[in-house]
Amino acid sequence: MLKGQSALVTGSTSGIGLGIATALAEAGANVMLNGFGDAAEIESTRASLAERTGVQVLYSGADMSKPAQVTAMVREAEQKLGHLDVLVNNAGIQFVSAVDEFPDAKWEQILSINLSSNFYTIKAALPGMKARNAGRIINIASAHGLVASPFKSAYVAAKHGVVGLTKTVALEVAETGITCNAICPGYVKTPLVEGQIADQAKAHNMSEEQVVREVILASQPNKRFVEVAELGALVVFLASPAGASITGAALPVEGGWTAR
Ligand code: NAD
Repeated sequence: MLKGQSALVTGSTSGIGLGIATALAEAGANVMLNGFGDAAEIESTRASLAERTGVQVLYSGADMSKPAQVTAMVREAEQKLGHLDVLVNNAGIQFVSAVDEFPDAKWEQILSINLSSNFYTIKAALPGMKARNAGRIINIASAHGLVASPFKSAYVAAKHGVVGLTKTVALEVAETGITCNAICPGYVKTPLVEGQIADQAKAHNMSEEQVVREVILASQPNKRFVEVAELGALVVFLASPAGASITGAALPVEGGWTAR
């Protein structure tokens, strides 16, 4: 479906980003991975995805908290893949604390990785997309881009910011062949959430099963985790010609969480 297209997915060495990059590669797009982790494991992921799908799979270790590295990564993707059709801003981190105890450095780090990196990738990618009059920008926000939860001030602020940035970019490029959307997932069982489950279990002296049932999935009316593959399929749809009229949207994929 996306044969001949090129995609860059930030934060794609793990979790949702890796699932999205896999779905894009399976749909025929050449892909640049990005993110942290064990170098040998990343290389093995890269090589096996390329071998299994037959597309070109590259990797950039750029740090999304460093604007110069973010811009250089987009340039590298354009040069090595020929052009950039699909930009997925997915890299993100979490930290949970009351506002009055929230460490300043954590606030800055979350804002830079979860929000500002989206601005810098979009700024770097738009000139190429405008020149080709084609492009798909897909920002992985969160249900926390639409509603808040206590103790997640930086994350909620950054994700609401991502939704606002998405709408602004969509309006600026509305008359071109470029679309810009946000996906707002509920809880997905990735390393990011597994960390929260373990922390909450310790903090409240509960079992991990209890935390999942009574804390994590309490907000999700369908009472199940969102699957990474469900998000990958939505990204492929948005990147396809059928997604051409969807722009400026914040699409909830959260089992009814924000319907309350
Ligand atoms: P994850 O921890 O499994 O993956 C995060 C990825 O980002 C990893 O590849 C990591 O290496 C990368 N990363 C972290 N800091 C980076 C940096 N400075 N530079 C480059 N890469 C960096 O997390 P996940 O759950 O897959 O989350 C992915 C995105 O989805 C995040 O933006 C998160 O906020 C969002 N999200 C997750 C959930 C969930 O329940 N897991 C729900 C809604 C939204």
